Amino acid sequence: MKQEQMGSVIAVVGLGDGDEGKGKVTDYQAQRSNYVVRCQGGSNAGHTSRYRGEEIALHQIPSGICNEEVVNVMGTGVFLDPAKLDNEREDLENKVGLTVHAGNFAISHQAHLVLPVHVELDKAREKNAKDKQGTTKAGIAYVASDKALREGVRAEDIQGASGRDLIEMALERRDILAKRYGLSRGRTALRAARVEAEIFAVTSLELEPYIQDTTLMLHDRLSKGAHILLEGAQAFGLDLDQGKFPFVTSSNPTTAGLLQGSGINHQVITDVFGVTKLVPSKVGVFITKMDDELASKVRGKRGEIDSEFGKSTGRPRDLGYLDLPKLARAILANGVTQLALTKSDWIQRMGKTTKIAVAYEVTDAYGKVTIEKVAPGGNKALLRSVPIYEEFATWTDIKSKQAKRYFKFIEEMLERPVTIIGTGPGRDDLIFPHGRV
Ligand code: GDP
Repeated sequence: MKQEQMGSVIAVVGLGDGDEGKGKVTDYQAQRSNYVVRCQGGSNAGHTSRYRGEEIALHQIPSGICNEEVVNVMGTGVFLDPAKLDNEREDLENKVGLTVHAGNFAISHQAHLVLPVHVELDKAREKNAKDKQGTTKAGIAYVASDKALREGVRAEDIQGASGRDLIEMALERRDILAKRYGLSRGRTALRAARVEAEIFAVTSLELEPYIQDTTLMLHDRLSKGAHILLEGAQAFGLDLDQGKFPFVTSSNPTTAGLLQGSGINHQVITDVFGVTKLVPSKVGVFITKMDDELASKVRGKRGEIDSEFGKSTGRPRDLGYLDLPKLARAILANGVTQLALTKSDWIQRMGKTTKIAVAYEVTDAYGKVTIEKVAPGGNKALLRSVPIYEEFATWTDIKSKQAKRYFKFIEEMLERPVTIIGTGPGRDDLIFPHGRV
């Protein structure tokens, strides 16, 4: 069968460890798309968007929802939580009058459902000091485990089911997993599980009109000229296979993961936008960390929209210097064609100069030392690496000689154009050094 492509497919992926400003780049690209597709992750993702001047928090619903012309798709790879999706839809409607309807929203029949027991298990593990992983308690690791165990429940299981069927399904699964993982099966726990199962059933049934074969739908629209945006959640450093295991998420936020989770194939992808912030923050191993005194000046104040404090813990995040070997690895693995660099306005907070890691001195497991321009994978090799820095003058004016030198250097080292630069926390604080993309 011939692939007839008249439209285009672009992907937006995070190259760092998340929170790099993908939301803003995705919002911009969503305005130029007919379909916006979430492909992986679930309600553990999230960014703030704007609609008619109001701030809205999106977790599961794709970013195109702010644009009435766009159809928003939850692809095959998404972990869908019906109860949370219902809250998100209600919030959008009540706060800004945005309605989700069968004309602007579709769910893949192959997407796996987050059941109440997945959330219960996640919460139980996070309560236990020894097992704590700092998750968002959205049940994602457990729904992903069920999928890998080939025991999960999918959106197609909602089709034609009654409320009673769905309650039974959720309770049966709770029973199996409660035995397996040692959750309470006492009367109080069962009563709470029943309430959750009822909410699951009611909110699942509301999703029925949206469930369809989104893979075929996207290919059909592509052949008729549609522009499709694959919206990455999380980032390369958190990729289950490619990231800093075990400080990772339970899905694949790479371009390959987005293709897999949408049913789009590699032949039709036209551009991959890699997003990263110029002042990275930490998840897991972090070898370009700046000293704490400087970080405390750069991080911003608690409560500021763009300041660097953990979303759930509230703890100040470690900050570091731009790390080109790490980006080079992410660019290779994702097939990035254009770079979007955010938080350029923070560079001046570093003082008169800043540093960029341009290579690593890597010692292998047997003591051999080499200089590498691409970061090694795996935490052990990373911990045996020492960054080699080059110093750059900072700037206040993005059009200055110093700023131009800084960005030209990045483009030359990474061999990719920097086509989008974030210049502030606002949705429209973007510039396009090579013209609009
Ligand atoms: P995501 O997790 O990658 O989707 O990241 P978000 O889009 O939610 O952005 C994370 C934070 O960075 C938000 O608070 C944004 O306001 C902020 N941000 C994004 N781009 C810029 C920028 O260019 N400058 C500054 N100062 N803040 C930015």
